[in-house]
Amino acid sequence: MPDLDQPIEYVKGIGPRKAELLKKAFSVTTVGDLILQYPFRYIDKTNITLIKNIKPTDEWVLIKAKVTNFDLIGSSKGRLVAFVTDGSGFMELVWFQGIKWIQPMLAIGKEFLIYGKINVFNNKISLPHPELESNTSQDAISEVLMPIYSTTDPLNRAGFDMKFRRGLMESWMKSITPYQFPEMLPEALINHYKFPARIDAIRQMHFPKNLAEATRAKDRLIFEEFFINQASLMIQKLYRKNNIKGYVFGQIGHYFNTFYKDHLPFELTNAQKRVIKEIRIDSGSGFQLNRLLQGDVGSGKTIVALMASLIAIDNGYQVCIMAPLEILAQQHFRSIKKLVEPLGLKVELLTGSTKKKERVELLKRLESGDIQLLIGTHAVIEPPVIFKQLGLVIIDEQHRFGVEQRAALWRKATPLPPHVIVMTATPIPRTLAMSVYGDLDVSVIDELPPGRKPIKTLHFHEMKRTEMEMLMHRELAIGRQAFVVFPLIEESEKVDLENLQMGYDRLFISFPPPKYQISVVHGRMKAADKEHEMQRFVKHQTNILVATTVIEVGVDIPNASVMVIENADRFGLSQLHQLRGRVGRGADQSYCILMTGFKLSADGKTRVKTMEETDNGFTIAEVDMQLRGPGNIEGTQQSGSNEFQLANLLTHQAIFKAANDAAMKIITEDPKLEKPQNKGLREFLSTRFRKNKDWSKIG
Ligand code: ADP
Ligand code: MG
Repeated sequence: MPDLDQPIEYVKGIGPRKAELLKKAFSVTTVGDLILQYPFRYIDKTNITLIKNIKPTDEWVLIKAKVTNFDLIGSSKGRLVAFVTDGSGFMELVWFQGIKWIQPMLAIGKEFLIYGKINVFNNKISLPHPELESNTSQDAISEVLMPIYSTTDPLNRAGFDMKFRRGLMESWMKSITPYQFPEMLPEALINHYKFPARIDAIRQMHFPKNLAEATRAKDRLIFEEFFINQASLMIQKLYRKNNIKGYVFGQIGHYFNTFYKDHLPFELTNAQKRVIKEIRIDSGSGFQLNRLLQGDVGSGKTIVALMASLIAIDNGYQVCIMAPLEILAQQHFRSIKKLVEPLGLKVELLTGSTKKKERVELLKRLESGDIQLLIGTHAVIEPPVIFKQLGLVIIDEQHRFGVEQRAALWRKATPLPPHVIVMTATPIPRTLAMSVYGDLDVSVIDELPPGRKPIKTLHFHEMKRTEMEMLMHRELAIGRQAFVVFPLIEESEKVDLENLQMGYDRLFISFPPPKYQISVVHGRMKAADKEHEMQRFVKHQTNILVATTVIEVGVDIPNASVMVIENADRFGLSQLHQLRGRVGRGADQSYCILMTGFKLSADGKTRVKTMEETDNGFTIAEVDMQLRGPGNIEGTQQSGSNEFQLANLLTHQAIFKAANDAAMKIITEDPKLEKPQNKGLREFLSTRFRKNKDWSKIG
C-alpha cells in the first residue's frame, strides 16, 4: 500500500533531483499527487501502423520495426539518428537529448514498438524523441492500452520516463485501497449515472481495459471535481450566511436620504437601484455581507459604492474604499469628494505618496473616528492604519489584489469582520463565476446608464493610417481628446518601447505643437512622472495621451472620444474591451479604432471581429474563455480556478450543470450532511477543509 502523503523524493528510484523537477513541472510533491496526474491519452498496442501508410498529416503513430542503422551525427555529434524498417518502408528516428540513455538500447536488427509524434520537414517524415519499447524485454507491460502521461524533457533526461512511470503506477494501482480513496459521492448518484466507484475510476484512468472504460472513469472523475467544488462553495456560503455575524446597518439615515433626495446627479438605472437594495438588505441582516459586484465598464459602479458607503456611515461606521492604482484611488477620491461635498462628509485619501506629516495627522483622525470615508491604495492595509469602527470595505477591480491583502483588510475591523463588496469590471462567464465565486453573493449591473451612444468600433489596416489620423483631427477640432495605446509586454519590452517612441514621433508630426499637446505614459516611468502626465491629460492641457496599457483600468475622462489601439491583435479580448470602455462616457459619438497589420492569426481575427460586433462585456467574456480557456480569464487567476485536474468549464458544461444540480439538491435537503447517505461526502469535505485552510474566499 503506497503512503499517499509520502514526499515523492523518498520513493525508490526518484530522489531529490527528479522530485524537484516534478514539483516544478506539475506541482507534484507527494505520492498521492502523482497518482492524481492522469494520463492524457492511451496507445492501443494492437493498432500498429505500417510505415508506408503513414501520412504527413498524421499526428501520433505506433510502429513496430527493426533497427537497420544508427549513428551520432552533427558537428559536435550532438544528434542521434536511427533508421528502422518494418518491411513496408523506412523511418528516421532522431534524438537531440538523452542520447546516453538511448544509444545503449539500440542494436542493429533489434525490434521495437516505437511510438511518437511525427515531424515533417522538407516533405520528409521523421519521429523526434520517440518512445521505444523493446518487444522482448521482460518488463514490457502487458496491457493493451498503454497510458501516456504529460512529461517534460528534463524529466525524461533525468530518467523519469514513461516506462519508469508506468511501472510505478502499475505497482501502486495494484496496492491502493478504498480506505485511501474513499467514496464521497452518495450511492444514489453513482447508481443514477452508472459511475464506477472512486477507487475503480482511478485505477481505470491509469490502466483501462478499453477506451469506453477510460471514458466512463474520466466522466466520473470530472463530475466528482465539479461536484466537490460546488458542494464546498455552497456549504461555505451557507455557513457564512448563518454563522459569521456582521454589523447591523439597521437604518437608512441622514446622509443617504439627503444625498438621494437632493444631490444625486442623475436618475439611477434600475440595475443600480436593485443592487443598492440588495446591499441594504444584506447589511441589515446581522450577518456578514460578502458580495461580488459585477458591472461592465461604464455601468456606474462608483455611485453604487458611494451609496453603500453612506448606509454604513449613517449607522456610525467607517468605510474604506481600496483601488489597485494610485491614479484610480485619486480619481475615486476626487469624484466622490465632489459628490458628497454638500453633505459635509469627512473623506480622505491615503496612498503611498501621502506626505509623512499629512499621514500622521490622517492616521490620528482615522483612529479617533473623525474620518468617515477613507479612499486609498495598498497603503490602507499597512499596520499603522487603525480604524475606530470599520464597518464596510469596498475593493475596486479585485483581480489586482492578492488574497493576503484582502485578509489583512478584514482584520482591521473589530470585533466583527467588516462587510465586503468586491467590484469588478471584468465580466466573468457564468459557469466560471459559479465555480470561483460560488460562495459569494453576486450582484450584476447589467444595464448601462441611458443616453449613451454606442461606441463605433473600426478596424483599420496600416494603409488606412491617414484615415485614422483624419478622424482624430476631426474630433480634436471639436475639443475632444484621444488615447493612443500601445502594447507592452515584458518579453519584448525593448521593441515595444521603441514602437511607442516611433508612434509618438509620428503623432508629433501629424499633430504638431503649439496647437496640439501630447502626454506620454508608460510602465517604465517613475510613478510621479506618470501621475504628472496623466494629470495634464485629465486637465485637458494635452489633447492626446500616448500610453501603454497602464490606463487599462478605471480611468474616467469623459471628454475623450477616441481610443486608438495600435497592434490591437496583440491584446487579449477583455483587455481590448476594457480599453474601449475608456471612451463613450459622455453623450457624444465616440470611436474605438483597432489598428493592425494585414496578417492576423486566427485568434487575432476572432478578437478583432468580436470587438466590431458586440459591446456586451459578458458576450466578450464568453468568447475570451473560448479562446484562452477558463484558466486564463482575468479576474479569476488568483482565486483557485485552476483547482481542476481533469474538468474543464468550457468543454464539460453539461457535466458541470449536472454536478451543480446534484450538489444543490443534496445541500438543500441536508445542509449539515447529517443523513447516512451523505456520510462519505461529509467526511471527504471535512478532511479537505482541514487540509487547506481556505483564505481565498475572503471577499
Ligand atoms: P464604472 O462602472 O466603469 O466604474 P463609473 O462609476 O465610473 O463606471 O461611471 C461611468 C460614468 O457614468 C460616470 O461618469 C458616471 O458619473 C456616469 N453614471 C453612472 N451612473 C449613471 C446614471 N444612472 N445615469 C447617468 N450617468 C451615470
Ligand atoms: Mg470604476
